[in-house]
Amino acid sequence: MSSPTSGLAGTAKAGGAPMVKAEGVHKSFGTAHILKGIDLEVAPREVFCLIGPSGSGKSTFLRCVNHLEQINAGRLWVDGELIGYRQRGDKLYELKDREVAAKRRDIGMVFQRFNLFPHMTAIENIMEGPVQVKRETKAVARERATALLDRVGLSDKAGNYPAQLSGGQQQRVAIARALAMEPKLMLFDEPTSALDPELVGDVLDVMRGLAEDGMTMIVVTHEMGFAREVGDALVFMDDGAVVESGHPRDVLGNPQHDRTKSFLSKVL
Ligand code: ADP
Ligand code: MG
Repeated sequence: MSSPTSGLAGTAKAGGAPMVKAEGVHKSFGTAHILKGIDLEVAPREVFCLIGPSGSGKSTFLRCVNHLEQINAGRLWVDGELIGYRQRGDKLYELKDREVAAKRRDIGMVFQRFNLFPHMTAIENIMEGPVQVKRETKAVARERATALLDRVGLSDKAGNYPAQLSGGQQQRVAIARALAMEPKLMLFDEPTSALDPELVGDVLDVMRGLAEDGMTMIVVTHEMGFAREVGDALVFMDDGAVVESGHPRDVLGNPQHDRTKSFLSKVL
């Protein structure tokens, strides 16, 4: 098991640096080896789609990017900074919990389940992070939350509680809530998988809008139409490894590996 060491100068924030870079990332839970050497790069402003069978490690990878899991080997950078470590000179120091929390603020994450606070209205859900974590005034937070509700098409639902919203509306509030923290990277973990089919389109439209605005996004999805139309890059993962990657059009239209072909024949 290797761990990050010194001598990483020059890799950080060079011109055109990737927003996310994984190099030989391994992750195990006990004896279960889940990520088996992931290498990938996500460029700024890119919509990076991650597909693969259930259990292949997609969520685990996102959780590593979002500081929710520590990797066991390899290196993982977000915006040029090595996850979990702080560099001073050519020495690396492990981040303290407080520092990890500060880094996580720059990354928005949207899950399959909407995870809104049930006792707060839509607008209160969106204001919560900026007020509690960023110490913004309520007036400032409310102004941004109002604009974000408009952006996700829910201006008329500001005062609704989650239980008074459809799944698709809740998911759009969840996206607005993540955006309220002004993240530089958004992670989506099967954001439409739990939705009734007729509600999927509105959520994908919001994500499409975000992409047009230049947000860097990693999207785990089974929505191949979205991947093909909106994605800039696509990776097919199986059994904890990248099997195939490229432009979505190429990977989806002309898969090279049998495992990719077999997977796509089931989902397309
Ligand atoms: P995917 O998102 O591609 O469906 P996951 O990353 O959720 O895959 O899971 C990959 C594998 O890792 C699964 O076998 C899952 O059971 C296992 N796993 C995920 N999280 C944990 C955990 N906290 N402890 C033990 N095993 C886990
Ligand atoms: Mg998953």
